[in-house]
Amino acid sequence: MTGFSLLLRGGLVADGTGAPLAARDVAVVGRRIALVEPGSVVASDEVADVSGLVIAPGFIDAHTHSDTSALAGAEGELDTEQVYAAVRQGVTVEVAGNCGSSAFPGTFSGLAALGRAHAAVGRANHLVSLVGHGSLRAAVVGHEARAATETEVARMAEVLDEALAAGAVGLSTGLIYTPGTYANTAEVTALARVAAQHRKPYVTHLRDEMSGVEGALAEAVAIARDSGAALHVSHHKTAGKYAWGRTETTLATLTGLRASGMDVTCDVYPYTAGSTALAAMLPPWAHDGGPARLLARLRDPEQRALMATAISEGVPGWENTVGNGGWDRISVACARRHRHYQGRTIADLAADRAVDPVELVAELLVAEDGDVSIISHSMREDDVRRVLAVPFSMIGSDGVPKRGLPHPRWAGTFSRVLGHYSREAGLFGIAEAVRKMTGATAARFGLAGRGVLRDGAHADLVVFDPALVADRATFEDPLAAPDGVRMVVVGGSVVVRDGEVLAARPGRVLAC
Ligand SMILES: [Zn+2]
Repeated sequence: MTGFSLLLRGGLVADGTGAPLAARDVAVVGRRIALVEPGSVVASDEVADVSGLVIAPGFIDAHTHSDTSALAGAEGELDTEQVYAAVRQGVTVEVAGNCGSSAFPGTFSGLAALGRAHAAVGRANHLVSLVGHGSLRAAVVGHEARAATETEVARMAEVLDEALAAGAVGLSTGLIYTPGTYANTAEVTALARVAAQHRKPYVTHLRDEMSGVEGALAEAVAIARDSGAALHVSHHKTAGKYAWGRTETTLATLTGLRASGMDVTCDVYPYTAGSTALAAMLPPWAHDGGPARLLARLRDPEQRALMATAISEGVPGWENTVGNGGWDRISVACARRHRHYQGRTIADLAADRAVDPVELVAELLVAEDGDVSIISHSMREDDVRRVLAVPFSMIGSDGVPKRGLPHPRWAGTFSRVLGHYSREAGLFGIAEAVRKMTGATAARFGLAGRGVLRDGAHADLVVFDPALVADRATFEDPLAAPDGVRMVVVGGSVVVRDGEVLAARPGRVLAC
């Protein structure tokens, strides 16, 4: 046996299937791996003693918004810490294109064009992408608040079909975001049918994750059932005071569906706070016609008053985050021209200025051209734990790489699940935690040869110290690298060693 470039010797393998940890040596041969009996005499360019450490398949982040982060990094619009926060915690594949928003159609013509752009700047890890329904709708229908015509639905189906044939991993919706929220159930079902034909999943940010979560889940289930597509619920949560505790019922529903033979899964991030765009706090009609129209309405006192009324009284069919919580639970994460606002709540900022919160929000959005992200402290710990613990949940960061004080989940999710929820809280053992980050995710998104350590698998690996692995990223220091991640290998090349990102850029945009 020759030709090994790297031999990891003396470690415990968590193979990604959930099987108990086993003492095996792992060798890298080109871009693939071979499992070796411990202590066998084999020749290798590099031999790393990983005694006491766990060797796992590289983590697959089931849910990111990092579609163009590496490109923004190359343009100097993002810092390297933001671009590489995922790979530094062991993520070797990022699943992008979530919540209805993908880089194509729109910014790029398709997956291949996105792949060429990434190849030109280089990636440390791999990226795969869903096709965003909102991106399809923006390209075909535009930003009007109306149902799509039959012709438009057919055109969206055509573009989706081409993208899935080209290797995108499924269809995603973001039914709280415009323009996706303007779609009715029938439109989404027609598109999910295309995903089903490709045996790819329907992945959804539900129309409501707060007081109306059961109804929104019922819509998603109906779409999956009527289309024949597998259902994957994104960042499952029951947020806002009216929905706290309701994961008991939503998870029971999903468990029942699985028992009846439906292919249903979800992803989850290990925090009680969410993060999204500040503009998503406004009612859907405020966005009718697109971003420029939104800004025009925000400048109009009468329209602002209508928005304030909609938020305080609600709009049928609209989630209304603020109505479910309050401006005191929402803090500014990233606002380029208002750094002094970052980390402070909207309620606090408005009180300081003695203005109505909606007035402050309008002024801020106008001054920032609509680009402000927020952190919403909207969940309860028992709900987060319940979703983490079910066997059909997998780990996704929902990371949004941005300058400012973004949510720490982008840099801390995987080490937090391993350190805090597995080792400290005992929610599950290491083997199961690893399965939720690897084998389960690869199976969901059809990533052949990844997620499970077996002979011939792709050489995407992470080596971590099970006694030390822990997240360091916080709301004050959101990009801090985790403790205990010793080595990350992508496509047979070492890309991270002891927390440091090396020069190798073996990552690609994968077609699946
Ligand atoms: Zn989402």
